[in-house]
Amino acid sequence: MQKGQSVERARRLGVMGGTFDPIHHGHLVAASEVADRFGLDEVIFVPTGRPWQKEARGVSPAEDRYLMTVIATASNPRFSVSRVDVDREKVTYTVDTLRDLRAYHPDAELFFITGADALASILSWQDWEELFALAKFVGVSRPGFDLNTEHLAAHLDTMPADAVTLIEIPALAISSTECRRRASEDRPVWYLVPDGVVQYISKRNLYRPVDAERRDGA
Ligand code: ATP
Ligand code: MG
Repeated sequence: MQKGQSVERARRLGVMGGTFDPIHHGHLVAASEVADRFGLDEVIFVPTGRPWQKEARGVSPAEDRYLMTVIATASNPRFSVSRVDVDREKVTYTVDTLRDLRAYHPDAELFFITGADALASILSWQDWEELFALAKFVGVSRPGFDLNTEHLAAHLDTMPADAVTLIEIPALAISSTECRRRASEDRPVWYLVPDGVVQYISKRNLYRPVDAERRDGA
């Protein structure tokens, strides 16, 4: 190798999947922490189309969740948002997300970022062997959910050594469920979600059952 020539290394891409209904600071801190700890070049936020676990409750329109994610991540040059799940017709499975991103970024190393609660359900995902072939998984701590359960440890023992890494991140006890509840009761969501997202929720009348009909007709 000649002097001054740099060694090409694979781009390291984080993938932060979520319903983001709405996106909140817990998501943003998780992505930022993993980016720092794993030396990621970029974190791609991927709002789900129709989340398979959430078919029962009405999820806000994909376009609203996509736009809130764009608003929340716009100021960070290392954060981007992908439409792969929003634009796919069928219900969202993580394996499809990763297959599509792998096709867009064939040479990148992918790191799928997930909270402690969602990590537990990895165990119920069908193609976990394929999942681990597509990406490494990073499970982050989340208040109210234990990262170090015996149940999880037992499963991790049966998986490839570096398939899943568990890390502690600053604790933010924020959930989208609580943000939706607050908005529906006219209580503040300031400082739980980015300012632009507060304004978007109010502009589009999200999470207000009384206004749902008007919004859908808008
Ligand atoms: P909901 O209450 O509607 O399920 P949520 O707050 O759990 O919403 P999701 O969109 O379901 O948000 O989560 C996307 C990902 O972000 C999941 O992997 C989840 O575990 C993780 N996550 C969400 N909130 C936090 C948090 N406060 N700290 C760490 N991880 C989080
Ligand atoms: Mg959730």
